[in-house]
Amino acid sequence: RLYNEVIELKGNIRVFCRCRPLNHDEITKGSTSVVDFESVQENELKIIGSDSSKKQFKFDHIFKPEDNQEAVFTQTLPLVVSVLDGFNVCIFAYGQTGTGKTFTMEGTPEHRGVNYRTLEQLFKESENRSDIMRYELFVSMLEVYNEKIRDLLVEDTEHPAKKLEIKQSAEGTQEVPGLSEVAVYKTDEVWELLKSGSRVRSVGSTNANELSSRSHCLLRVTVRGENLVNGQRSRSHLWLVDLAGSERVGKIEVEGERLKESQFINKSLSALGDVISALASKTSHIPYRNSKLTHILQSSLGGDCKTLMFVQISPSSSDLGETICSLNFASRVR
Ligand code: ADP
Ligand code: MG
Repeated sequence: RLYNEVIELKGNIRVFCRCRPLNHDEITKGSTSVVDFESVQENELKIIGSDSSKKQFKFDHIFKPEDNQEAVFTQTLPLVVSVLDGFNVCIFAYGQTGTGKTFTMEGTPEHRGVNYRTLEQLFKESENRSDIMRYELFVSMLEVYNEKIRDLLVEDTEHPAKKLEIKQSAEGTQEVPGLSEVAVYKTDEVWELLKSGSRVRSVGSTNANELSSRSHCLLRVTVRGENLVNGQRSRSHLWLVDLAGSERVGKIEVEGERLKESQFINKSLSALGDVISALASKTSHIPYRNSKLTHILQSSLGGDCKTLMFVQISPSSSDLGETICSLNFASRVR
């Protein structure tokens, strides 16, 4: 199968970098782009004006500011479709707040992102295979905030959502008992469902963007397959993760609730970095248990599971420090 051949060639962990365009505000304030895509090889970029020792970075693919959602999805497609072949897949968007994590994963009604396009393709591809395979698709959505797990597909405000925990099943997989799972049958209903989940994500916050930048949002697509020829059944997961902002908070802000939040975020993002770099270096001990994020994803990270990290960056000279941090994080996991 073509999709798998592409994947075998590239291995199980890959990192894409996406740089958003300079925005109106940055241009008005006289900020310039510090990312050079021209004087380097393909799939490399160079950071201008940094005093950090490493200035040049290589990725499995680089998306420049002018690359659209379709271009991004074309590169992502082989990976997401492999969930229909029984592979577990995790896709992450990592980066400073405002660099386009939510734009890449969720997108806007006019520029839909990876999440929606993925479900659309899974429906299309399962239809293509309908003479030999029968597939059922289910969607769950959850948030990890301050190491607490919340179901985003229950909109019951009168009864505060019950606290969800991770349990290990008899088969040794990590499950979240009580997490709602919605069967999806056609593309039409998917956008609204995903929207309702992301609306719940921001409830309880005075500023929607504020809170969503401090929680991890995980969309899980469960695929149940049945081979109509030999009766063999399979179940696999595809996780699409919009991570909390990776920025370090300013010294003056660091107290009370904000301090706690940023410690949880730092801890979970570095736990994720540790797990992926341990997997990349084929170490035997993988520290999944150091955060809720990596623990939930345990059965979908490592082994023959497939992982993709989007490292989102800003081109602006005013974000230089955070951009270098994100690129260094990416080099660690690659
Ligand atoms: P994050 O989720 O990382 O905080 P957002 O996805 O909210 O960032 O993006 C911040 C703003 O930049 C949004 O208004 C978004 O629409 C815009 N944006 C991000 N990436 C792109 C892009 N590649 N092209 C055009 N606009 C973008
Ligand atoms: Mg966001």
